[in-house]
Amino acid sequence: MSTATTIAPTLDATAIAEFAGTMRGAVIQPDDPPYDEARSVRNGLIDRHPALIANCTGVADVVAAVNFAREHDLLLSVRGGGHNVSGAATNDDGLVIDLSAMRGVRIDPAARTVRVQGGATWGDVDRETQLFGLATPGGVVSTTGVGGLTLHGGWGWLRRAYGYCVDNLVSVDVVTADGQVRTASETENQDLFWAIRGAGSNFGVVTSFEFRLHPVGPLVALAAPFYALEDAERVLPAWRDFMSTAPDEVSSNALFWSIPAAEGFPAELHGRAVLILATVYAGNAAEGERVVQPIREMAAPLLDLSGTMPYATLQGAFDPFFPKGWLYYWKSLYLDRLDDKAMNAIIGYAADRPSPDALMGLWHLGGGAAGRVAAEATAFGSREAPYLLSFDTTWTNPTDTERNIAWTRAAWTDMRRFGSGGLYLNFAGFGEEKEHLVRAGYGANYDRLVELKTRYDPGNLFRMNQNIRPRA
Ligand SMILES: Cc1cc2nc3c(=O)[nH]c(=O)nc-3n(C[C@H](O)[C@H](O)[C@H](O)COP(=O)(O)OP(=O)(O)OC[C@H]3O[C@@H](n4cnc5c(N)ncnc54)[C@H](O)[C@@H]3O)c2cc1C
Repeated sequence: MSTATTIAPTLDATAIAEFAGTMRGAVIQPDDPPYDEARSVRNGLIDRHPALIANCTGVADVVAAVNFAREHDLLLSVRGGGHNVSGAATNDDGLVIDLSAMRGVRIDPAARTVRVQGGATWGDVDRETQLFGLATPGGVVSTTGVGGLTLHGGWGWLRRAYGYCVDNLVSVDVVTADGQVRTASETENQDLFWAIRGAGSNFGVVTSFEFRLHPVGPLVALAAPFYALEDAERVLPAWRDFMSTAPDEVSSNALFWSIPAAEGFPAELHGRAVLILATVYAGNAAEGERVVQPIREMAAPLLDLSGTMPYATLQGAFDPFFPKGWLYYWKSLYLDRLDDKAMNAIIGYAADRPSPDALMGLWHLGGGAAGRVAAEATAFGSREAPYLLSFDTTWTNPTDTERNIAWTRAAWTDMRRFGSGGLYLNFAGFGEEKEHLVRAGYGANYDRLVELKTRYDPGNLFRMNQNIRPRA
């Protein structure tokens, strides 16, 4: 799916050679052998051809690339982990600032903080922090980039215990549209720091993140019963009621899926539609097993993968199911209730998914550390919604593309009757709703974000994202 969003820039060979001379990393062009790998992103639907890919090795390279893009009026993408399904990390005919060589991670065990370069993945972070028995909240798939995931909120298995990624940010180093390197924190460039915690990709290239760490693991308890979808009418309300009083250590997702034909799953169950209650206890593992036990007893599971496991293993457990090159269209909405009508609608859509690989995830968000952060404290906005429903529609055959996207959009549109319009911008599909979508995502914080965008990026250099447009 190629979307030309700009006219091919007029770049002559001399300008490119001069730019390459200012870079330590490679400047990759279409005829260079690494080009095809470098231009590809996670989502196999995205097939874009940038004019140049700047493989940055450090902050100085990022500054050179930002200045070059601005001076030559190039469409600019920033590539972190390359996971965003919309393909924002790449473009047609523009410049890509590729951060994939900037993946360093350094722990300060005494201060309980970690510094992470802008192109690192969550696997990079968890591997290093777990050496010290520490972790910071990240996503649930280890290959996802810290950059994109954090800059629009970021949540995973530690969300109720320790909040979202943005809640754990201590500071960032960011190269803004004017090519300046700025540090933003609670004490320095506070406005920018506020904006970055939820709308970050609009404000510059974050070259390093500093996060707070918490004691987690090395072992954690996971409950993962796979119930037959036929039992969902009984299991889903029981899960809702359990989570309404669960302690903050517990974060849980109700996942509607089909058991994959993969190693580790009994052959006789392959393809069975299931409701998985994936539930993690971020505290003492033995205590956790006891606390999450009721999750395993809500009906007779077809399969139960519950147990204790190293936190770093848990963080990679879902990786095999989202490989590079598969086809993804993911969209989400907040639900403000999970009453019988909402549950029936969800179960109905779960039975009607357009592909066995299509996952529907009901993220329990209520309360916990994340829920205690005020809407105006960070750009991320309101934390009031108790659930997020995500349609993680995934398929492999390109001839099924139209059907999968149409189904997802129809289901998403219909389910909006159970929410008040908000959505999570990390799962926003291809952003077809443009400004309307971004406004809905930020709610009351939107106007302040427009002011800050106008101040820091008046020319909208950083626009390959859920874009906040500066005032004209
Ligand atoms: C398999 C999979 C699992 C996921 N799991 C979760 C999850 O558990 N929790 C969750 O909250 N979300 C999750 N997501 C959604 C994810 O947060 C978004 O797709 C996110 O945008 C991915 O970030 P990235 O750096 O990998 O992506 P990219 O496509 O590289 O970047 C996404 C956006 O962020 C910008 N960006 C990236 N890095 C930087 C940087 N350093 N500075 C400035 N801008 C930057 C890019 O320009 C782009 O606009 C998942 C997505 C996938 C595909």
